[in-house]
Amino acid sequence: MTSTTPIRNIVIVGGGTAGWMAAASLSRLLQNRYTIRLVESDEISTVGVGESTIPMIRLFNTALGINEDEFVRETKATFKLGIEFQDWGKLGERYMHGFGTFGQPLWTLEFFQYWLRAWQLGKAPDVERYSLNRMAANAGKFMRPSTDMPNSPLADIPYAFHLDAGLYARYLRKYAESHGVLRTEGKVVEVRQRADGFIDSVVMENGTVVAGDLFIDCSGFRALLIEQTLKTGFEDWSHWLPCDRAWAVPCELSGDLLPYTRATARPAGWQWRIGLQHRTGNGHVYASRFMSDDEAASILMNNLDGKPLAEPKMLRFMPGKRNKTWNKNVVAVGLSSGFLEPLESTSIFQIQSAISRLVGFFPDAGFRQADIDEYNLQSDFETERIRDFIILHYHATERNDTPFWDYCRTMAIPETLRRKLDLYKSSGRVVRENNELFAEIGWQQVLHGQGVRAQGHHPLAALLDEKELLDFLGNIENVIGKCVDVMPAHRDFIAAVVAAG
Ligand code: FAD
Repeated sequence: MTSTTPIRNIVIVGGGTAGWMAAASLSRLLQNRYTIRLVESDEISTVGVGESTIPMIRLFNTALGINEDEFVRETKATFKLGIEFQDWGKLGERYMHGFGTFGQPLWTLEFFQYWLRAWQLGKAPDVERYSLNRMAANAGKFMRPSTDMPNSPLADIPYAFHLDAGLYARYLRKYAESHGVLRTEGKVVEVRQRADGFIDSVVMENGTVVAGDLFIDCSGFRALLIEQTLKTGFEDWSHWLPCDRAWAVPCELSGDLLPYTRATARPAGWQWRIGLQHRTGNGHVYASRFMSDDEAASILMNNLDGKPLAEPKMLRFMPGKRNKTWNKNVVAVGLSSGFLEPLESTSIFQIQSAISRLVGFFPDAGFRQADIDEYNLQSDFETERIRDFIILHYHATERNDTPFWDYCRTMAIPETLRRKLDLYKSSGRVVRENNELFAEIGWQQVLHGQGVRAQGHHPLAALLDEKELLDFLGNIENVIGKCVDVMPAHRDFIAAVVAAG
């Protein structure tokens, strides 16, 4: 299906994180060549969660020319070096998925293989001792990478943010409007289609008709255009990702500002803790077929660090993805395109990635089916690999203490994940496919952290004799320790950013 009408008017339906991220970035990247209008209803609230990000968000900010210190002040952000997982592989155990590299490669072989050999010999401590991000996170420290020490681990500190989702949307709205985006407030009550099924316009409650050539559906779980109108269809993944609800509640800050997200496994799901400058965001993600809503709410409320600041709010979702995220002249971005669950904080990244993919395939001269097909293939690949990574956290466990964990431990898993697990078990190797989001070391940390044990290691790792191997590891551990010593406390780093405003 091809349409040769040139694009002039872009309509974004929805003003949550997805809508305003799309508006801000398209207004910047498309340089005022199109009219961009965002339609949102003050009566229909946004999901209001989505506070933990991954390092790619910095690319988004850079593309927009955002001043990072200002961003941190305006969104009450803190810095994030990774995610701590408590009680996942086994009750009482913890590990962290830290961003960034471990140690350093030798003879082109990844560091992890050397560590694995030493660990298999019983002579190496936990792999986190060779990760600056993980050791700094444990110590509550943070600094941005230092550009004047190119050979030091301090030059490579990938980080992300914890941010207030409401403030973030407001910040992006200010940015987008100052770059020419028009905003229409009101509820969309009707969607009009052309004879070929393409969307022609949306009609607001007050009768205003907003017409467009390209529609970006950012209407959240309602999926107003992509599903309610175009009936695109949805692939349900709840047999692999059984969590389908969450209670969320903010509470008063207490204790130190942690530079990482905490994800604690619970009897039928898990609980997040995300510390911001002014409050802590908390939520309990659970599987409704294994736990009642009341029990899930009471687990959350009984496990807060500080006094709750509101009543808990419930969110329902179905894990999975839209059959096509681009259908006719509608591109679904954000929750309207699907949702896995927030365990690895990937949703905001997927919004960013969808926008940059759309810019890559921008239908300037009309809609070409080959472009749309390629866009959808890339989108599916990205989502499916993230899905596998999240499933791994549930499946690779020794827990059988509740029916939920027993189900996850024994459930069938996608073939793509099975292959990764088998390869890792045999040799500790992970092969990153194409440009899938999570790199080898991300997978390795989670695999090992969840208790999956590699039987062997790469043969090149045995070219060092035992003393050389342990000296190599010892030096790196030493350097990482020294680097952490000179880093400032996370709380002090933020205080300096705030004070400079
Ligand atoms: P919404 O926020 O729901 O916005 C929808 C918009 O559409 C609203 O402005 C609404 O007014 C508008 N709208 C709807 N219908 C109409 C209509 N008829 N007329 C006019 N306007 C309409 N992501 C992360 O990256 N990290 C996380 O830590 C994270 N945690 C999460 C935890 C939970 C429990 C959930 C459910 C999600 C989480 N996410 C997280 C995902 C993240 O919240 C979303 O990706 C992000 O907020 C984008 O939402 P959205 O803009 O697509 O939808």
